[in-house]
Amino acid sequence: MVLEEIAGLIGGAHVLSRDELAGRPRDFWTKEPTRARALVRPGNVAEVSRVLALCNARGQKVIPEGGRTNLVQGTQAAGDEILLSLERLNGIADPDARSATVMAEAGATIQRIQERAEVAGLRFGLDFGARGSASLGGALAMNAGGLQALRYGTARSQVAGLEAVLSDGTVVSHLTPFTKDNTGYDLKQFFIGSEGTLGVITRAVLHLHPLPAGADTALLAFDDFGAAAALLGALRAQLAGTLSSFEIMWGEFFDFNTGEQGVGTAPLARGHAYYVICEAEGFDPSFDRQRFETLIASAFERGGARDAVVAQSERERREIWNIRENFDAEIRLFGTLVDYDLSLPIDAMESFAEAVRRELQAKAPQNRGLHIMGHLGDGNLHLTTGVPDPEMKPLIDELVYGLIAAHGGAISAEHGIGITKKRFLRHSRSPEELALMRRLKTTLDPANILNPGKVIDVTGPVTLEGRVAQ
Ligand SMILES: Cc1cc2nc3c(=O)[nH]c(=O)nc-3n(C[C@H](O)[C@H](O)[C@H](O)COP(=O)(O)OP(=O)(O)OC[C@H]3O[C@@H](n4cnc5c(N)ncnc54)[C@H](O)[C@@H]3O)c2cc1C
Repeated sequence: MVLEEIAGLIGGAHVLSRDELAGRPRDFWTKEPTRARALVRPGNVAEVSRVLALCNARGQKVIPEGGRTNLVQGTQAAGDEILLSLERLNGIADPDARSATVMAEAGATIQRIQERAEVAGLRFGLDFGARGSASLGGALAMNAGGLQALRYGTARSQVAGLEAVLSDGTVVSHLTPFTKDNTGYDLKQFFIGSEGTLGVITRAVLHLHPLPAGADTALLAFDDFGAAAALLGALRAQLAGTLSSFEIMWGEFFDFNTGEQGVGTAPLARGHAYYVICEAEGFDPSFDRQRFETLIASAFERGGARDAVVAQSERERREIWNIRENFDAEIRLFGTLVDYDLSLPIDAMESFAEAVRRELQAKAPQNRGLHIMGHLGDGNLHLTTGVPDPEMKPLIDELVYGLIAAHGGAISAEHGIGITKKRFLRHSRSPEELALMRRLKTTLDPANILNPGKVIDVTGPVTLEGRVAQ
């Protein structure tokens, strides 16, 4: 019945039935079929509003979806939900060079927004591997981070204005292009990072930045974590805001990924404890290159770097990044991947990594190794291991998240919570914070129709003390 009503609102051609969806993979990561009541594709904001108002009135659960590339089962349906795809809302306006902003609809991919900005001589500061499939709405709903967060911030920092539709169909629109807007509560931040649980994002005005004229990239080897971290401070101070990326790889990851099973070639000798990729993108290529090489040389001569290479061509630059970004070999090695996206203070990273290695050996000695790498400059590490028996994953989850809490870290740096990490949110958020999150959810979505079961469970109104009010 509700599907016929939705077809009446947006046209039958834009309502895909359960059977039509059955052959479609649930998300980017699995061959499991989609199990949902239907997928609906409204064509504009007014249609999104009408569909949500109707679903709210009927108690119909709705899961917003973009490119389905999230890593936390964020768009997973149990069976009776309706998937609400924003794919038809994919317009991108001409960038406004004066305010350095662009307005885009939620279904536009990150790559198309990047390309549109570049034509205007500007850069959109959000970038990650899934750029070709991930949508703006999904990336904002996940508060995605990625490869340039060190310079431009996460998705939260990219948004000047936002439009979202609440569960009852109310359109909340504040599409301003300003950097400064102190007109009361910053409502857009409720929706950014809320993983489709508080509203459906339909449009945003995005900040853009000057497009750099070139990139300088180096790979360095260290045997001392402190020396690698010190280089970050030096480059931040001396590269005048042009440092875009500062990535770290623990030796085990580097050795494997440059070995026969990986990319098969190592620009620097293997066997060091840490490897760093740093990249600066400036506006004066010859001056930038000279300054960059001087800084890398001084890291080598006085800063504790054991080896270093600066890419001399785009091909060499790609070869360096491939070591960091090639996960195929890792997937083959580990089979059942057990991976983590974590934040923690840079000072705690070394002892955290050692503690994980120690406890993993003690509690899961059958593990196939521990690969650690990440965005050092953002305080974000990615850990991957593999175990022969998938049943062991909960044990390793408890081990890693327990240690992350003990080291003052967060259980999610950029991939969000979804279903995968919901159980562990208590490791990073206090009972008061969890209770406030529930209050926000029940206020904005009292019927709990929006992406239910993701991020936080809501069984009824919750008091600040964390009790479910009767
Ligand atoms: C190869 C690869 C590399 C990646 N690298 C990174 C990385 O470096 N950094 C990083 O942060 N992430 C990374 N990701 C994950 C990244 O968060 C997602 O790819 C992206 O942000 C999600 O966009 P999407 O359109 O696919 O959203 P989906 O996966 O479709 O949805 C994600 C969540 O947002 C909700 N949602 C979707 N659209 C809307 C909307 N319009 N309004 C409200 N809620 C909505 C969904 O309900 C879901 O909860 C990577 C993923 C892949 C596959």
